[in-house]
Amino acid sequence: MRLEGKTILITAAGQGIGRASVQACVAQGARVIATDVNVEALESLQRESAAIETRVLDVTDVEAINALAAELPGLDGLFNCAGFVHHGSILELSDEDWAFSVNLNVTSMVRMCRAFLPGMLQRVEEAGPVSILNMASMASSVKGFPVRTAYGATKAAVIGLTKAVAADYVKQGVRCNALCPGTVDTPSLRGRIAAAADPVQAEKDFIARQPMGHLAQVNDIASMVVYLLSDESQFVTGQAMLVDGGVTI
Ligand code: NAD
Repeated sequence: MRLEGKTILITAAGQGIGRASVQACVAQGARVIATDVNVEALESLQRESAAIETRVLDVTDVEAINALAAELPGLDGLFNCAGFVHHGSILELSDEDWAFSVNLNVTSMVRMCRAFLPGMLQRVEEAGPVSILNMASMASSVKGFPVRTAYGATKAAVIGLTKAVAADYVKQGVRCNALCPGTVDTPSLRGRIAAAADPVQAEKDFIARQPMGHLAQVNDIASMVVYLLSDESQFVTGQAMLVDGGVTI
């Protein structure tokens, strides 16, 4: 199994890409600490496998992050998946909305990496190289999209953060990569479609921006998560890995 013997923590594990990633990692032999703010989602995940341990974690709560890091043994893998899509151009972006996106999409990852890195460096000594994966998006420094000002800017920052961490720890057995999905069929995407003035057209528009003519399914992304958290990707670090169905061809 590709993740045998590894302990991996995943944020925003309750639904969507995070949940599929928990399931994919467990299927490859990992022990997964699944975290989210949604208690019911965690409870249903907990029932799926004895290899899943669930913890309530709000990634905007620095004290909770530090307390969890102090409590857990050194991780082999950390997948910072939590993120939020703000819909709007720069003229539709309030300071409050901007601060919320920066806090949830970027500051949370700074705090998670800072809190868990010391334990992960110790784990390198005990068990060999470790891997950090940060959720970015194709909507980032990779490509601009309409009405994604806060989202694109914060996901670009995730890529910058990822490269900086990768550069600092490349000699110490810590890899750090960013994941850049295209449009993925998740509950939050369904929410964005439902909230549009014309949901039927909104779904068509999301599909139309994918050259393959269909959305990604969560497992299309989770398979890259498994790869980047496994030793198969041992020579890959500091990369923004696109899984975008051809958008950036
Ligand atoms: P989602 O938005 O459907 O689910 C997000 C999960 O995050 C929920 O379980 C929610 O309870 C949890 N969450 C919300 N606030 C939280 C907080 N403060 N702390 C911890 N957990 C919190 O999931 P998704 O659409 O799979 O998106 C996951 C990640 O993937 C995000 O970072 C998103 O930006 C990124 N992404 C998504 C797409 C897409 O098309 N869906 C594309 C590219 C990137």
